[in-house]
Amino acid sequence: MEKLISYDIDKDIINFFTTKEYDLSTALKKLNIKNYFCLNQIHSNIVHIADENYQDKKDGDAFITKIPNYALVIRTADCIPMVIYDKKQKIIGAIHSGWKGTLNSIIEKTINSMIDNFSSNPKALYLYLYPSIKKCHFEIGKDVYDQFAQKLANIKEYAIKKNEKYYLDLPQIVIDDAIKTGVLKEHIFNNNVCTYCHNDIFYSYRYNHTDKRNYLIVMIKG
Ligand SMILES: [Zn+2]
Repeated sequence: MEKLISYDIDKDIINFFTTKEYDLSTALKKLNIKNYFCLNQIHSNIVHIADENYQDKKDGDAFITKIPNYALVIRTADCIPMVIYDKKQKIIGAIHSGWKGTLNSIIEKTINSMIDNFSSNPKALYLYLYPSIKKCHFEIGKDVYDQFAQKLANIKEYAIKKNEKYYLDLPQIVIDDAIKTGVLKEHIFNNNVCTYCHNDIFYSYRYNHTDKRNYLIVMIKG
């Protein structure tokens, strides 16, 4: 069985989300990828353009490139890994959106960066969400709930309260942010896989505080 998770994005776009069977080097080897860029992920809403001058491991949580044969790599263990793709211009972005990035609208920042730097038309953008922790297991405290309540007037549509605890639907917040920024609903692809529920397949920080990570790898094949 193929144990790398992938979407059918476009014929020249390689994209994979690794299971526990892979670390970064074995996944890159399997995919025959030699060059890649990383970020120093800091739960921010900082977006970089990875061009010829990109210095690896900049502080930030999203990056965009149109350079072929250089993969963008994001590491997660419960946070939302995402690919955004400008189908018209063949530009890819990779995003790490945990609760802080989601609260600070990193998806919106990334889309706006594509519009500003590449004149992307939001209607030509496609958004793909890979496995992350879902509302079945994403428990938050009142302090975090209150911060999201400030961002979202309709917070009750995204959070459920159970036994004095709150559970938040982070992917839905990201999706609705993307739609608000102009991405078409039918261009957004979600999944039902919760990394905590499926901690036998994926690393889940909430499950056992692991320091290991799943890797999202996306590349334009030149
Ligand atoms: Zn779950």
